Amino acid sequence: MIGILVLYYGSLYQFLLHCTYGQDQVLEIIPGNEEQIKSLVELEAEEHLQASVFQSRYSPTTHVQVPFVSIQAVKGFLESQGIVYSIMIEDVQVLLDKEYEEMLIREWNGNFNFEAYLILEEIFQEMNNLITDHPGLESKVNIGYAFENWSINVFKFSTGGDKPAIWLDAAIHAREWVTQATALWISNKIASDYGNDPSITLILDVMDIFLLPVTNPDGSVFSQTQVKLYWQKTQSKVPGSLCIGVDPSRNWDAGFGASSNPCSYSYHGPGANSEVEVKSVVDFIKSHGNFKAFITFHTGKFLKLHFMAQKAAQSLTSLHGTKYKVGPICSVISNGGSIDWSYDSGIKYSFAFELREAGQYDFLLPANQILPIAEETWLDHPY
Ligand SMILES: [Zn+2]
Repeated sequence: MIGILVLYYGSLYQFLLHCTYGQDQVLEIIPGNEEQIKSLVELEAEEHLQASVFQSRYSPTTHVQVPFVSIQAVKGFLESQGIVYSIMIEDVQVLLDKEYEEMLIREWNGNFNFEAYLILEEIFQEMNNLITDHPGLESKVNIGYAFENWSINVFKFSTGGDKPAIWLDAAIHAREWVTQATALWISNKIASDYGNDPSITLILDVMDIFLLPVTNPDGSVFSQTQVKLYWQKTQSKVPGSLCIGVDPSRNWDAGFGASSNPCSYSYHGPGANSEVEVKSVVDFIKSHGNFKAFITFHTGKFLKLHFMAQKAAQSLTSLHGTKYKVGPICSVISNGGSIDWSYDSGIKYSFAFELREAGQYDFLLPANQILPIAEETWLDHPY
């Protein structure tokens, strides 16, 4: 038990403490005109500067994470373009250190830590633990391997036989760490509630549930180990470009055609299903052939889930299927998104859920928010 505690408290933050990312800064910019927006696109394309440009979906504000070695060059570039910036995060490492210290004083919830962000190996270990704890109900299905060869592992909850199924996935966007933590919490909840909670028992008596906690494992590892707060892409090599990765949430074969700039954070890729992470899910769902619902989790800012849940519940109880997408137009309702694909593929109950995010620093959500968000998500679950 003590060993497990140490492992989890150590988790991601301890790992990060041993790495030096020294003084990455995040700058905040409100572009004044189209020219300045274009300049920021150019900045992102300057591969050697390694600047991560993130345009907020909720305001004109843009955040740029800049490695220490490029700070002077990037600031010089901005000044030369007449772009005003302020320093949003002085030192990303200091913020992470502070978060780690706070985690140390938090209490445990049984032997399963919902208040820490785990690295991928720990998530896989926790998946194995949960499966061991619930034999006969929970198992693991490997549906493929990511570009960097990480396993794409899915929980399967089944009371036996091949039943119609529900699909859930999380962390297709690398930086959305809270969604993979929420997925683990949900998997524990499903398994422990079967036989106790009437609605979960009823569902599992007639349906199977498949849950993919980390859809984009390469990106998850990269965003954590390199502390790329705004990284959402895969790690695939893009032919003809020095920039890497594709936005896996724009890579589905439905309205394919988001950004064609390989250096953009929303680059759609060389073609639909070019990303093995996406293709693995597509192939699995097609070969299964009997999915009735498709639910994908994202993280949003300042967005409450209650409204969505209400809509979701309404649509699920209606006679007609629905393609229900919640959230800002450019994120959830995006070209090449999984929800459009699943709906077009005949899965009439297709939902994108944006989990609330309360973090002051975009996707660097304090780990003590994981549990409230997981509980809130569960209370609002649409099935
Ligand atoms: Zn997302």
